[in-house]
Amino acid sequence: MDQKVCVRKRPLFKKESEKGDVDVIRDDNNQSLTVLEPKTKVDLTKFTEEHNFFFDEVLSDNTANKEVYKRCGSPLVRYVFEKQGKASCFAYGQTGSGKTHTMMGNPEQPGLYFLAADEIFTLKKEKGYSDLTVWVSFFEIYGGKLYDLLNDRRKLVARADAKQVVNIVGLQETEVKSVAHLMDALNVGHEARSTAATGANLDSSRSHAVLQVGMYSKRSLHDLFKNLTQIQFKRMNKSVGKLSFIDLAGSERASDVNDNDRQTRIEGAEINKSLLALKECIRALDQGSKHVPFRGSTLTSVLKDSFIGNCRTVMIANVSPGTSACEHTMNTLRYANRVKQL
Ligand code: ADP
Ligand code: MG
Repeated sequence: MDQKVCVRKRPLFKKESEKGDVDVIRDDNNQSLTVLEPKTKVDLTKFTEEHNFFFDEVLSDNTANKEVYKRCGSPLVRYVFEKQGKASCFAYGQTGSGKTHTMMGNPEQPGLYFLAADEIFTLKKEKGYSDLTVWVSFFEIYGGKLYDLLNDRRKLVARADAKQVVNIVGLQETEVKSVAHLMDALNVGHEARSTAATGANLDSSRSHAVLQVGMYSKRSLHDLFKNLTQIQFKRMNKSVGKLSFIDLAGSERASDVNDNDRQTRIEGAEINKSLLALKECIRALDQGSKHVPFRGSTLTSVLKDSFIGNCRTVMIANVSPGTSACEHTMNTLRYANRVKQL
């Protein structure tokens, strides 16, 4: 199976260089990069240790979201259409490395959410999928618990049904008719996420945000099930495919397991567990293994149905270029490297 691991480097900010940070990441070409780690010997002489890494895509600091989408997002959307499959795209990295910039972006430079939706609606038109309906849900996983970002952060539970399919009970799924419509829904959810973060002592860097876009085709079922409610009707529809975009918790939070505060420690342990489980799941898919350990965390268990059958994943590991981030950058690159290495 085809699982991709990509690395995106963000630019060094002026305020970082003013504080003495220098850019320690050299992107050698489209698939390789080198970290120039500053080191000091015991006799205080300074030297640079070079670490070379290879990935499916290396996105340099001047790569715009559009280009990131072209190289990492568009193949997923096309796969979902062509294979009626499931595809997931993860943004991994330390807080401040550009995960949300990649996924959500801003009005000047919309991110993968927008660009994917745009292509979905374009393909729908081009391919004459006039009966295709598009539904979105957006939820957050915080401390292993689920919160609906499209419904006032309502707390939700996940349950496995008789067929061992994990469902999130009561998750709001909204039908969207256009890109603008989808972005309106997302903006509400995005707002809910950051407001909760400032209001209730929650920290959005400790949560995973999961956007799912489901595509259903009415086909001949339409006439048969005319009398059903919209939601019932959608369930009876043939699923064409599903896309998931996951803006992961800050990877540095996984080391909060050593924090003095108990709650912080518990949350850190949960993040650690989910990032490890995620790595194992993608590795299993990449190796074509039948056993995918999705039960290892809430994150992977709610994504279970996206890890079976026709499925693809793309991991975008985001890195900050500065000297002060070097240790986290190395951790991110090592993690990303292990996602695919045998
Ligand atoms: P994260 O979600 O990983 O914590 P953000 O996406 O919020 O990080 O990025 C931190 C800051 O850096 C934001 O102000 C964001 O706009 C900016 N930023 C991130 N990546 C880029 C990029 N590739 N180009 C320009 N600005 C970026
Ligand atoms: Mg973020």
